[in-house]
Amino acid sequence: ERKARAAAPITPGALADGTPVPLLANLGSADGAAGAVELGAEGVGLFRTEFLFLDAQQAPTVVEQQEQYTRLLSAFGGKKVVVRVLDAGADKPLSFLNDAEEENPALGLRGIRALRESETILREQLTALAAADAATDADLWVMAPMVANVEEARYFTALAKELGIRTAGVMIEVPSAALLADRLLAATDFASIGTNDLTQYTMAADRMLGTVATFQNPWHPAVLSLVASVGEAGRELGRPVGICGEAAADPMLAVVLVGLGATTLSMSPSALADVRASLARYTKDDAIAIARAALAAEGAAEAQQAAKDAAGSVT
Ligand code: PEP
Ligand code: MG
Repeated sequence: ERKARAAAPITPGALADGTPVPLLANLGSADGAAGAVELGAEGVGLFRTEFLFLDAQQAPTVVEQQEQYTRLLSAFGGKKVVVRVLDAGADKPLSFLNDAEEENPALGLRGIRALRESETILREQLTALAAADAATDADLWVMAPMVANVEEARYFTALAKELGIRTAGVMIEVPSAALLADRLLAATDFASIGTNDLTQYTMAADRMLGTVATFQNPWHPAVLSLVASVGEAGRELGRPVGICGEAAADPMLAVVLVGLGATTLSMSPSALADVRASLARYTKDDAIAIARAALAAEGAAEAQQAAKDAAGSVT
């Protein structure tokens, strides 16, 4: 029998000058919630709802979903929980939403595109989420995956609000969305950058394919440059810009991302402690200087080295 031990208080994510950088958890089921809280997660930055239904042959019912979402939100009373509507397709196909015959599923009917074709499923999911929100005191934010243009951002935000979601946003993981971040953010409440897909689509390299794995590197200045434009748009419009891809789990890259304008970072709970410790070493001005050095490099390896050198010279 495991004894409950008194958890040492974990400080919230912040830079050395006190600038808060809330550190959130990426989760795929409510089962991980307690563990994430124990590791100091200040909320959830990405709840991947498609993970709940990978084996389902039919779309889940509203009641079934409401039960799952209520369980998740209850574990984060008073805290922010960002839930992503079903991101079906490519590496995460759902039989009730995707056509198995697509030749290039990463470029096909995935994410918001697939949901739009089956709008009833999207409406039911948003309805279940709004009901779970009403039944708990967590601060629910809902976002759409694979948004590629402003029209999709407008569509999703309007539908979410119509169905009772208070805060609706979009993921930025397609270069077109990052390039038009100012217009996209004007059409919605917040953005969360998915660096896994943003890297895949920027570098034109399948994230699932081992032979091109070296391209899947979020340190690449081409990717950082897109993150920078989203950060700038967020700052100008006063909209939160989170990061929820794997990049946020790299302690040095996390500093760079904050320097580029990210306001929150979300990661697998096991990465929280190292990222928290890294952020605490640098001020906002340091982070901006480190980010500038990485951004000016010619490739991913050079950017990583430049950040390391710049970090060494500010501390
Ligand atoms: C991403 O693309 O970075 C992301 C967070 O979403 P997923 O990995 O689930 O596609
Ligand atoms: Mg993604």
